[in-house]
Amino acid sequence: MSCQPSPCPSAEHVDIPALRARYRQERSIRIKPEGQQQYVRPVEDLAEVYEGDPYMPVIPRAPISEEIAVAVLGAGWAGVLAGYHLHNAGVKDVRVIDHAGDFGGVWYWNRYPGLSCDNDAYCYLPLLEEMNFLPAKQFTDGFEIREYCQSIAKKFGLYEGAMFHTLITGLRWDEAIKRWRISTNRGDDIKARFVIMANGLLNIPKLPGIPGIHGFKGKMFHSARWDYDYTGGEQKNPVLDKLADKRVAIIGTGATSVQAVPFLGKYAKQLYVLQRTASTVDQRVNPPTDPEWAKTLKPGWQRERQRNFQHLALEFPAPGDTDLICDIWTEINRNLTAEFEREGFPQSAEEYLAKREVMDYRVMERLRLRLESIVDDKQAAEILKPWYRYLCKRPASNNEYYPTFNRPNVKVIDVSKTQGVEALTEHGFIAAGVEYPIDCLIFASGFEVTSDLDRRWGIDVFEGRGGKSIYEAWSAEYRTLHGMMAHGFPNQFFTGFIQGGFAASTTETFNQQGKHIAFIIAETLKRGAAVVEPTLEAQNAYVDLIRATAFDNSAFIRECTPSYFNNEGVEVANEKGETKIRFYTGEVYGPGWYAFLELLENWRDRGDLQGLALAE
Ligand code: NDP
Repeated sequence: MSCQPSPCPSAEHVDIPALRARYRQERSIRIKPEGQQQYVRPVEDLAEVYEGDPYMPVIPRAPISEEIAVAVLGAGWAGVLAGYHLHNAGVKDVRVIDHAGDFGGVWYWNRYPGLSCDNDAYCYLPLLEEMNFLPAKQFTDGFEIREYCQSIAKKFGLYEGAMFHTLITGLRWDEAIKRWRISTNRGDDIKARFVIMANGLLNIPKLPGIPGIHGFKGKMFHSARWDYDYTGGEQKNPVLDKLADKRVAIIGTGATSVQAVPFLGKYAKQLYVLQRTASTVDQRVNPPTDPEWAKTLKPGWQRERQRNFQHLALEFPAPGDTDLICDIWTEINRNLTAEFEREGFPQSAEEYLAKREVMDYRVMERLRLRLESIVDDKQAAEILKPWYRYLCKRPASNNEYYPTFNRPNVKVIDVSKTQGVEALTEHGFIAAGVEYPIDCLIFASGFEVTSDLDRRWGIDVFEGRGGKSIYEAWSAEYRTLHGMMAHGFPNQFFTGFIQGGFAASTTETFNQQGKHIAFIIAETLKRGAAVVEPTLEAQNAYVDLIRATAFDNSAFIRECTPSYFNNEGVEVANEKGETKIRFYTGEVYGPGWYAFLELLENWRDRGDLQGLALAE
């Protein structure tokens, strides 16, 4: 059956001015002026919930002192994909370094019950055609993703140079030897010709600075360090039977909590879900991969599907569009396309955006009505309703989340009026002046995504040429070439969302960055050079280009409920004193993801490494 529009209430049944006012009011309740400062740094303040590896023993080893060609810092998708492209480009002597015990990145650390990917796995999992692999389901489990990620690392020889359970503490450019000196928590001194920062977006757990947090005497852990010894069960078989006599509280109701709560509710004696902002949670239609469909796939199918996802999730709809993905990310455009096919396509971007806004209110109303029809307790249903524009937060889909609140042992507690959990005591938490005794507190409080770089990266020292710190260089604004290199930081490559295109799948961003970076490293080596660095002129020209074309969504995100998407709703000043709202994707190339890829491809095709200075 082809993908159908969703059954939203009609525009006449949605009071948009009233909803707009409600969204603003809810936003103002939640804004916390401290912004990022409301979170404590786990590394310093609550090491017990962060340090160590609950999944693999850390084996002592002697410090290593060596010279290598390429250090890839991070063994998650960004690192694996960079390694894959380096392998294909013939670059040998690559060391992937990570504080985890194996490849996988977020899929290594996150093993909480119910962990799965909220995105279409046929798009999200990279290199499916190259690996001749198909996931078991459209929305696949965390376990399968980790194994798949590791299978790529194995196939392309990345285990050979891998260095695990090693945390980077410092990076310094040494002009005398024209290498980066990498220091680690193991006392290593690695002298790498090139460094690729593949440290991901969700690598540092974030903990709320709740008054009394250090005095709580019960068990605490972050969702990205799930303690199965305490809860019982294991990732593949999450029977949390040791919680049968435990009172558990979980802080946060983001994508992680939505997946873990059904398991906690099923097994804990008592579960308190401490909610500051509700998520949108739709049903999850998750059929197993159909072998008949698999047989019909032609070479190039994954690229075609990814293009379809990009188009339906992020671009303007066009006549004849077909939605291959058919999920929550593509719903608004799917519905609009059906409407436009009947009534005519918009003649301008403004007209499209106005229609999109109306559909946004309709979809959000559908989601609120949906939960109302599932959650029996009227008060709980009211608390669970989300009041913001769709995509102000990451939308979730889960069939068990709302029914869990019909269990007698599960209670959702609204902590929005106090902008988070009020306080912790020795034995529990306080909400609306009442103390709730608990045995265990789970932080599903997310990761440092939009905080200052030093917090986000967790690397104490990062100094380029002349001892210039990257944190200083980028304190007011990013300045890069293609979002991947920076003047003053030779032989250094960045991945993630800094100043580039925005792909609907994060893995696709990493894949294309890995390809581009591997090309530059291979070309530099081929030309017999030891140093490659963007000229200031080329960097300035690129920054001008990205600023001139940048997709400006500040009006939308400024109105959004606070979260890591918009730097907790707090504006930041640039060098000129202008305040801006910081979006987690950084500055995005306006003409779109595929136009950005074309820009990179044309640049590579010229073959002259335009804008890069090479030196011996
Ligand atoms: P999020 O940052 O999305 O959520 C953190 C939660 O903690 C929010 O509900 C937040 O509330 C809450 N919180 C923070 N501080 C407090 C406080 N003081 N009191 C009460 N609540 C508080 O983290 P997640 O781990 O859920 O998800 C992080 C990201 O990981 C996702 O957005 C997604 O990118 C990724 N992810 C992806 C999955 C996938 O399927 N691909 C699955 C799981 C996660 P508030 O919203 O009010 O700030």
